[in-house]
Amino acid sequence: MHYSSLVRRREKVVSFYRYVYISNPEAFREELWQVFSAWEILGRIYIAPEGINAQMSVPEWMIDTFVSFVSEHPLLGKEILLNWAIDQPMLAFDKLKIKVRPKIVADGISDPTFNPARKGAYVDAQSFNELTDREETLVVDMRNHYEYEVGHFERAIEVPADTFREQLSLVVDMLGQQKDRPVVMYCTGGIRCEKASAWLLHHGFKQVYHLRGGIIEYVRQVREKGLPNKFHGKNFVFDARMGERVTDEVIGHCYQCGRPSDRQVNCRNDACHMLFIQCEDCAQQYEGCCSSACREVVHLPEEQQRLIRRLAPQKLPAFCNARVRRMQLMGSATHPTMQDLVEMVRNGIQLA
Ligand SMILES: [Zn+2]
Ligand SMILES: [Zn+2]
Repeated sequence: MHYSSLVRRREKVVSFYRYVYISNPEAFREELWQVFSAWEILGRIYIAPEGINAQMSVPEWMIDTFVSFVSEHPLLGKEILLNWAIDQPMLAFDKLKIKVRPKIVADGISDPTFNPARKGAYVDAQSFNELTDREETLVVDMRNHYEYEVGHFERAIEVPADTFREQLSLVVDMLGQQKDRPVVMYCTGGIRCEKASAWLLHHGFKQVYHLRGGIIEYVRQVREKGLPNKFHGKNFVFDARMGERVTDEVIGHCYQCGRPSDRQVNCRNDACHMLFIQCEDCAQQYEGCCSSACREVVHLPEEQQRLIRRLAPQKLPAFCNARVRRMQLMGSATHPTMQDLVEMVRNGIQLA
């Protein structure tokens, strides 16, 4: 059923996930489809043998029914943290999509003995604070680089890789000599660090904890209960605001001039589109681009820009890796760059 013609209905947006073994994802999908479409629930749900991940909007008059359905269902249950959005967009979803996927969070793990449901212990904001007050505790941020650099917890260790898949192997390498120390992991909403906590346990770490509900829930609890706040800067979320400011500190730096900034933008050159930090002054000077090469691109005729967009992944495979691009910007370019591509196109290169 489509609601796109409605301006607004009385609804609430909720997200939740659970790692739980689902022996027949197709049958579970069918069941949820029957129930949720009858209740006029809209949203996006992923089901995999390892669990479920859902974002949806529930009509206000169905909320009680929905909550008891979740808490009584054997594959869902009371343990699930229902994350209700506080300020929500107008009409968050326009249909209900339920998809079966190999994983709910892509991790590249093929080890059949790994069980993501055997996870570390949950901690709430208060226990997180107590645990991280202890010198011996390792605090590990399981988000992406661009999230860490504008905001993170005190003493948090960054795992500097671009994908969760790379982070999982890297974090074991980084902390492998310290398996007896307590480790507390966190991410934005909890789904990544929960799997990462299971991964560390799988690799023989003894005391693994993770922040239940992630930074979002931590900030909510800290504000509600007046607890000391250990998260500094901005919590990056993918929406129009590009991040909620948790404290007034600006802890990031402009990639171009190095001055303090946490203004995150995507490069205006669509062939690049890198997410990076740019201060207002550099935004003016570079016209919203990450480099003078990208600024050159946006001034080329549309035909040539289109060619560059098609050529970039083919001619500059390394360039499509965000970490390589950041290294280039910081001045250690060892791979072909956007500038090389501009030259090629100017010299009349054709598509192979
Ligand atoms: Zn700048
Ligand atoms: Zn760029």
